[in-house]
Amino acid sequence: MNSLKTTINLDNNYYMKILDNNNDLPLDVINVENINIINIIKKRYFLLKIDFDCLNKNLYKKILKRLLFIKRIILKNRIEIGVSENSKKLLGYIINYDKNNIEQNNFILGINSIFYDNRYQRYNNIYDTVCKYLDNHFYGKNLCDFKDSKCGEKRNTTSTIGCCHHYRNKLLGPLISHNLTPCKYLTENYTCGAQCISCKLFTCDYLEKKGIKFKIKDILLLDTFFNPIQKYFIKYMVFTPKEKILKRLMIL
Ligand code: SF4
Ligand code: SF4
Repeated sequence: MNSLKTTINLDNNYYMKILDNNNDLPLDVINVENINIINIIKKRYFLLKIDFDCLNKNLYKKILKRLLFIKRIILKNRIEIGVSENSKKLLGYIINYDKNNIEQNNFILGINSIFYDNRYQRYNNIYDTVCKYLDNHFYGKNLCDFKDSKCGEKRNTTSTIGCCHHYRNKLLGPLISHNLTPCKYLTENYTCGAQCISCKLFTCDYLEKKGIKFKIKDILLLDTFFNPIQKYFIKYMVFTPKEKILKRLMIL
């Protein structure tokens, strides 16, 4: 998704126009917080209005969930979504938008994911978007305080692979030794070859002492579009490649 001055381009060929006020709006736009499905079916017309001055951010999740539900009904009734314009589709209008407002941008990311063709594509988009956000935090801001290949938590140890390892039990006669084994997805240049969202969400004691903790309920896309069981797997499927996690999410 990329933002221009007067339009926001979404995926799947959709875009939204940014307006300064309500005066330039077509009369029959549908307010995103107050959608009447009966009217849409009667008029067979769907063009959205999102006015951030009127939207309560505490309701973003509820509004997005409802919009996803309504989009399914619209598709079942074979009603066209948006209006075709120059080989693209105008999905609607955004008013009182502040491009630096993270919550508003997250809401628009939610709108973007709703209008994917199917559930797998939506999950794939959400997965990549959240991973990118987490990578920007971890790598972009060096949250783990890597220095000379050692992270903050492992500063006084010999480990140079952060937390990308697990213990493997080895039988030595009657004894069991615990070997620290690097994760098989760790690449030669110490990056993750698995794009594992659960690992990216993990925060150790060192990070938590710094006040850094990623909670699924604080990430609008994850909190809105996944059910409690899916959220459990998103949190705990560490050491697992993206494809396996998506596959699991699809059957839950
Ligand atoms: S999460 Fe903690 S243990 Fe893992 S790399 Fe970061 S600082 Fe190190
Ligand atoms: S899957 Fe997890 S533990 Fe393995 S390399 Fe990726 S981030 Fe590290």
